[in-house]
Amino acid sequence: MKRRLIIVQAVALLLLALASCSAKPEKSKVTVFAMDTVIYLEAYGEGAQAALDEAAEKLYFLDELLSATKEDSEISKINKSAGSFVPISDEVIKQLEAALEVSRRSGGAFDVSVLPLVNLWGFGTEGAHVPAAEEIEAALQYVDYGKIGLEGSSVRLAQGMSITLGAIAKGYASQELSEMLKGRGISSAILSLGGNVQAIGSKPDGLKWRVALRDPVSAAETAGVFELSDMAAVTSGGYERYFEQDGKVYHHILDPKTGYPAEGGLISVTIVCDNGMTADALSTALFVLGEDKAIEYWRDYGGFEAVLITDDGRMLVTEGLRDSFKKSGESYSLLYVTRNGGDKCVKYQTGR
Ligand code: AMP
Ligand code: MG
Repeated sequence: MKRRLIIVQAVALLLLALASCSAKPEKSKVTVFAMDTVIYLEAYGEGAQAALDEAAEKLYFLDELLSATKEDSEISKINKSAGSFVPISDEVIKQLEAALEVSRRSGGAFDVSVLPLVNLWGFGTEGAHVPAAEEIEAALQYVDYGKIGLEGSSVRLAQGMSITLGAIAKGYASQELSEMLKGRGISSAILSLGGNVQAIGSKPDGLKWRVALRDPVSAAETAGVFELSDMAAVTSGGYERYFEQDGKVYHHILDPKTGYPAEGGLISVTIVCDNGMTADALSTALFVLGEDKAIEYWRDYGGFEAVLITDDGRMLVTEGLRDSFKKSGESYSLLYVTRNGGDKCVKYQTGR
């Protein structure tokens, strides 16, 4: 068996340098490693450094609280107590409520109870490998968001179940930090949490923040650029964390129906939304749903925009991004997804 482990926390979204000739207000910044990723925060204005230092502390706190691998985290406590109700913090309640809504809307494509499968595959560990079909079958019986009982400020998992907030926690953190910083009077900042980017206001020169979308096939290339103000952009891609076995690539976003990495034909999904937590959950959900169902989700529920890159070289951009997203290079053919494409039948308009 030939196995090659690749753990890349590639940053799918990159901040593009501030280009301004005018006198710049002082920049405050902080870089921390938390939540399994490198986090970079940049803010402008009076009190910005103190606010960012507070933000860094909050990130360490959230990491301890929300990690599915740290023994003493609240998530580990919930998992160890499967079968009984456990009192939980507001932080976890908010994420579980949002997660369950996306689970219901996506028909279970998003499911925080995938942890038994994640552990079986060993993503992110030296032991990553393709499990036996029977092992996947056995783990699947414990994957069911419908058996997460959330009542008031307590949660109960059915016996054998375990959860991970890996697909939503960074978005929750960026949303919380954004609100905290705004509350401290910060009106210009950019938060980058390993590919989850959240813009507060605009750049100090008044122009929108520019965020590059990584080409999912060639890491060094840019597939497009977003111009954002008071918006989060979150990308999910199979290339972020994966391993190779016998010449085949297995990535970390799992289809809770099959127990195998999702094969919906999408290689990168970026969600642009005014709420970072929603954007994070949706990027994972739409990746699993695949092209047609992802577009159906957008048409049915709205409240966000998306850029979907398909494995056959198309870049599908929802029409709300016509002015704020520009494709780079010629690797993908651009198509706009319109709302009036009908219920099930997907219609695109060609773009450049
Ligand atoms: P993201 O990078 O936000 O798409 O989240 C991926 C992470 O979420 C994985 O590393 C898993 O820990 C977890 N995950 C994988 N598949 C799913 C899924 N279908 N629903 C919810 N969480 C998932
Ligand atoms: Mg996500």
